[in-house]
Amino acid sequence: MAKPVLVHACCGPCSLEPVRLLREEGFEPTIAWSNPNIQPQAEYERRLETLLGWAATEGIDVLEVPDDRARAELWERAVAPHGFDREARCRACYALRLSAAADLARDRGFETLTTTLAVSPYQLHEVCDELLVRIATSRGLEALVRDWRPRYPEATRRARELGLYRQNYCGCRFSAAEAQAERIAARDARKAARHALDRA
Ligand code: SF4
Repeated sequence: MAKPVLVHACCGPCSLEPVRLLREEGFEPTIAWSNPNIQPQAEYERRLETLLGWAATEGIDVLEVPDDRARAELWERAVAPHGFDREARCRACYALRLSAAADLARDRGFETLTTTLAVSPYQLHEVCDELLVRIATSRGLEALVRDWRPRYPEATRRARELGLYRQNYCGCRFSAAEAQAERIAARDARKAARHALDRA
């Protein structure tokens, strides 16, 4: 019989490959939505709606952390003060989201917890793994630590094929600004390379 696992999911596209691989491993995933980091509110709703639509087609239950939207205030107090200190900020953000997911897992009788953050090459993996283990263990849960990053291109391909909405930043306003700055830097580098070729 498949073993239940609660999967903290950051969005629909990042859930595709973890869910498929967990099922291959003999788990039956249920998804936990615990993402008060996502800004603005319209983006929060869009990602949740995308996840719910896809999960319904897969027959996967999605459990929302109670008052997750209202927890945005908690995120502002616990995470936002770290500003553009990415490691400190993401550490606090993972801790907030995984703690709520772990509480939900414990309250609903799950024994095992994991997170789709482990599929994204843009996350801080060591930090995320460390927190997953610490937070799950503190609640008597098993932490399922996986590195699904090699499956990220396939997740992207499948999301495109399914027509799922794919965001271009992690979730908070800081990550939106960082992603925008990276796109501008990449564009400027391409322009500089073209100019150098033209002059050669
Ligand atoms: S970049 Fe992502 S993980 Fe880090 S603080 Fe922002 S929303 Fe949270």
